[in-house]
Amino acid sequence: MPAVPPPDPRLPERPGPDSPDYPAAARAAGTMTALDAHLVECRACPRLVAWREEVARERRAAFRDERYWGRPVPGFGEPGARVVVVGLAPAAHGANRTGRMFTGDRSGDFLFAAMHRTGFANQPTSVSADDGLALHDIRVTAPVRCAPPANKPTPEERRRCAPYLARELELVGSGVRVAVALGAIGWQALLTTLAEQGWAVPRPRPTFAHGAEVTLARAGGPDDVGAGAPALTVLGCFHVSQQNTFTGRLTPAMLDAVLLRARELANA
Ligand code: SF4
Repeated sequence: MPAVPPPDPRLPERPGPDSPDYPAAARAAGTMTALDAHLVECRACPRLVAWREEVARERRAAFRDERYWGRPVPGFGEPGARVVVVGLAPAAHGANRTGRMFTGDRSGDFLFAAMHRTGFANQPTSVSADDGLALHDIRVTAPVRCAPPANKPTPEERRRCAPYLARELELVGSGVRVAVALGAIGWQALLTTLAEQGWAVPRPRPTFAHGAEVTLARAGGPDDVGAGAPALTVLGCFHVSQQNTFTGRLTPAMLDAVLLRARELANA
């Protein structure tokens, strides 16, 4: 279980954690630690707060002796990574239990094994927040930070949570060269956020597909604070959910190929 980061006293006065305006105040966070401290207090979505806490109280039989995290889950990996992987949301008995993104369930097993094979992770397993896993040049995150019932956040919940991904991408900075979207929701969230941040996302929006590849330049203009940044490529990949990995829709070789392509683009 990760430690809860202390609140950043430099942040301006902000709405209470139950307020729908609370997530937007995260845009003032000056560091990843300050962002995480703000995030883990968030209670802006009543349905998701009730669900994440109910799951943490009830627990699955296999984990009944564990204390669940039961809070929003921060991104994990190198703060200055060149590759960012964007999933959907924490799993009820995975990240909602362990407090670390993609950790403690079959989806994470599949993802981190691939990262290990392709040189992005120091070990192939991911069981708890203190298991020694370290990521190199890659970061994993999600557009929704609380476990949703049936893995289905509502459009309103997705909108409300968007400032956390936006600020995280800003803090990772202009060194990001590749963003891998795991599934259609991650794809849409990424393109929306990148368009808001001044990237020239084509219209109509490119549709999600496994293996899709879209290279973005800065939109430019007098207010473009990121003008001159190198291109950023968005890669589509089927989500690492059991629904995909158990059926063979997403195989280890397919995920390895996406991660190796991400490395190739980051090194270009
Ligand atoms: S899903 Fe996002 S906005 Fe909603 S309560 Fe969780 S962290 Fe807050």
